[in-house]
Amino acid sequence: MRVRKALWICCGVALLAACALPLVSETQLEVESANQFQKMRGQMPVATDAATRRYVNCVANAIIAELEPPYSDRLWEIEVFDEDQLNAFAMPGGKIGVFTGIFKAAKTQDQLAAVIGHEVAHVTQHHALERTNRELTQEIGIVGASAVLGGNRNMADLIRMGAQIGLSLPYGRGQESEADIVGLKYMADAGFDPRAAVQLWKNMEAQNDGAPPEWLSTHPSSDTRISRLIEALPEALERYNAARAAGKVPRCR
Ligand SMILES: [Zn+2]
Repeated sequence: MRVRKALWICCGVALLAACALPLVSETQLEVESANQFQKMRGQMPVATDAATRRYVNCVANAIIAELEPPYSDRLWEIEVFDEDQLNAFAMPGGKIGVFTGIFKAAKTQDQLAAVIGHEVAHVTQHHALERTNRELTQEIGIVGASAVLGGNRNMADLIRMGAQIGLSLPYGRGQESEADIVGLKYMADAGFDPRAAVQLWKNMEAQNDGAPPEWLSTHPSSDTRISRLIEALPEALERYNAARAAGKVPRCR
């Protein structure tokens, strides 16, 4: 209750600018992403197998080549982490991480393209920023209020903290569905067979006996996402056929 009250006071006493979020800009989130990405590279084992690294880079670069400005202009970095987790991520500013455990479900270049397309779509659709600023309307508002009401934290620290919180938040279901559909377009435009996205999620489900990995548990149920992907397939197949006709025939292995 006290925190709520502080927030209301904050918003009520001409501190509207501090309360009227977004406090975190895309640029700030990109800076924080770059820091976290470097940290992960230092803390987690990276895959040393050259063929595996080349393969992941091949698929990721084909997807990145389909992006439009400003995302095509980002300095995209791709890392393969030697971790047995069914996981992958992309961060604002263009940092892509693939865990070697994902190959248990992403068994072909097209299925891996479905994973990477999905993750890149989270970036181009500003999902981390949306989530950050929605949550921070409460969190930072509260912290900001307590800071103003006697603390001595400065706003730059708060924003940095906000960006860190934002990057660790799971995506919402609506965002997951959007990333599926946008990701499907990216993979098809790059010449990867979009039907592989359906198979990928079936493989994920098969790998997923018992408790789901955290990454999956924040995603919509496989059945829901598979039926939505199937609905989107006709348009994706048109894009795929156009891409193949234009000579986009990726050969990543
Ligand atoms: Zn996702």
